[in-house]
Amino acid sequence: MKKRILVVEDNLLNRELLCDWLEAEGHEALDAEDLAGAQRLLQSERPDAVLLDVQLGNEDGLPLAIWMRQQPSFSGIPVIAVTAHAMVTEIERFLQSGCNACISKPIDFKLLNRELEKWLVPLQEFPSRV
Ligand code: MN
Repeated sequence: MKKRILVVEDNLLNRELLCDWLEAEGHEALDAEDLAGAQRLLQSERPDAVLLDVQLGNEDGLPLAIWMRQQPSFSGIPVIAVTAHAMVTEIERFLQSGCNACISKPIDFKLLNRELEKWLVPLQEFPSRV
């Protein structure tokens, strides 16, 4: 199903790569290069999920996840952290900040697809096992 995905990434080439891939997968891609731009787009476009580079140039990306979790209107939007390979050991910190999952660069698109499918399914659509 077509979803609207917000890509927050400071590097132009990485941003284009992600957006092109999302569009090829049939999604609508929105992109922001910093926290302020991401917050603006969250408010105006309400994406279904966010791919968040945790290193936005001089900015730390995690405050976006922390901020989203404090806003009732954004707290349910899944956030997938995108990190440098060396930072995968910090996954606990990403999850505690409110990210749902973490994938490392260079991006394994099969893995990203799996994570998106997993987190884009609304909770009520999971079969009840009670
Ligand atoms: Mn970056």
